Amino acid sequence: MAASSPDSTKVSLKLLIDTKSKKVLFAEASKEFVDFLFYILSLPVGTVIKLLSRDSMVGSLGNLYHSIDKLNHTYMQPNQSKDVVLNPKITDFGAPVPLLLANDGVLMARKFYTCRSHNYVADDKTAVCPSCNNYMNTDIPYVAGGGEVKEATESGGFVKGVVTYMVMDDLVVEPMSTISSITLLNKFNVKEVGALEEKMVSLEMEEGLMLLKASFETKNVLTRVFLS
Ligand SMILES: [Zn+2]
Repeated sequence: MAASSPDSTKVSLKLLIDTKSKKVLFAEASKEFVDFLFYILSLPVGTVIKLLSRDSMVGSLGNLYHSIDKLNHTYMQPNQSKDVVLNPKITDFGAPVPLLLANDGVLMARKFYTCRSHNYVADDKTAVCPSCNNYMNTDIPYVAGGGEVKEATESGGFVKGVVTYMVMDDLVVEPMSTISSITLLNKFNVKEVGALEEKMVSLEMEEGLMLLKASFETKNVLTRVFLS
């Protein structure tokens, strides 16, 4: 619904920073940020490599990506396409377009089509039925495992919007309401409350990509993205 509105590509969060150790203790975040974090887990590995650009990847996955990219198509099985791994289609969970993919055309709803007369299924409306040569452009409802049609709520995404969430520097996520501030200060071993500072930051495409990369490399993700 709000897929292309400018607001859906910008998320703000409130950081609590320990100015002495120059670290983010945690962030107070809205549903949008938590949806964004959980969404990362649903990304195909091929998409992650593409987003981070293969040359900046730690490890060997970048080489794997590059290998299939340059492999001549004559080596491929005729029913396979390199795009399946190089540009995987990403399921649309009904959330506003996630930050990382805001400028990418790969977001796909889970939709299937038929010609109506034959037992073929396509995931693309422009497919042509091998039997009757008609376009396979009739929608077939998709039923998820469990057999129940579950309507998405208006706001979409993964988590509910009624509470504020707490996101730790190492991306542990919990609802904010269950934690008292005294427990928190003890947990972080904060001796000087005066050294704490609140700061509002916003997450846009660039920070989204930095966060994705940092989440593979460090336990101080928020610190790296917002304080360095
Ligand atoms: Zn047909």
